[in-house]
Amino acid sequence: MALAAAGVGYLGLLDSDTIELSNLPRQPLYKATDVGRPKAVVAAERLANRHPQLVVKPLTVQLDASNFTQITAGFDFIVDGTDQVASKYLINDGAVRAGIPFVHAGVVGFRAQLMTVLPQRSACLRCLFPVPPRQEDVPTCQESGVLGGMVGCFGFLQAGEAIKYFTASHQEMSIDRLLTYDGARERWHSVPLKRSSRCPLCGETATPRTGASSGRACSGG
Ligand SMILES: [Zn+2]
Repeated sequence: MALAAAGVGYLGLLDSDTIELSNLPRQPLYKATDVGRPKAVVAAERLANRHPQLVVKPLTVQLDASNFTQITAGFDFIVDGTDQVASKYLINDGAVRAGIPFVHAGVVGFRAQLMTVLPQRSACLRCLFPVPPRQEDVPTCQESGVLGGMVGCFGFLQAGEAIKYFTASHQEMSIDRLLTYDGARERWHSVPLKRSSRCPLCGETATPRTGASSGRACSGG
């Protein structure tokens, strides 16, 4: 919603899920009568109706390592709105290898975090956590709940990161730092990060592939 309103010309919406009633508190593009319909298709319809100048492409496939390059080709920036650890590392690894900047965010319970990654220029997720935690060790939205307002807040912050990237305000982006918010104690922190020379993905001994991109934003979630 924020990227479309800001005037991004081409938006890809990637989600293979269908709308559930429990999504409605944090996904304001949808109505109760949309339950059961594909999320990406309905979101694309709503955004296209509001913004006639926007070209929006719904993608209902499941993203994986084998189709990452094909799906993200041509996009300038990726907004990670996924809710699985494996998906976040898939996006981190694919985007760094393809040279596509992206913004990571995660929200569970009352806690949220965000960081932007400029491949080969700023720290990536694996610089911070070389090996992903096991999914069973990470609380899920189903187990811990999620505060809908915080999802909206961090979604708009992510859109802000994309807009900063598109307007070449790279110094103002949340790179080389992890922004965290504890909604139970109302505390924000900005934790400084550094690229790690031992990062298995973008460190000195890693050999990521590079790729080109041009003018488009892709949001998965
Ligand atoms: Zn790294």
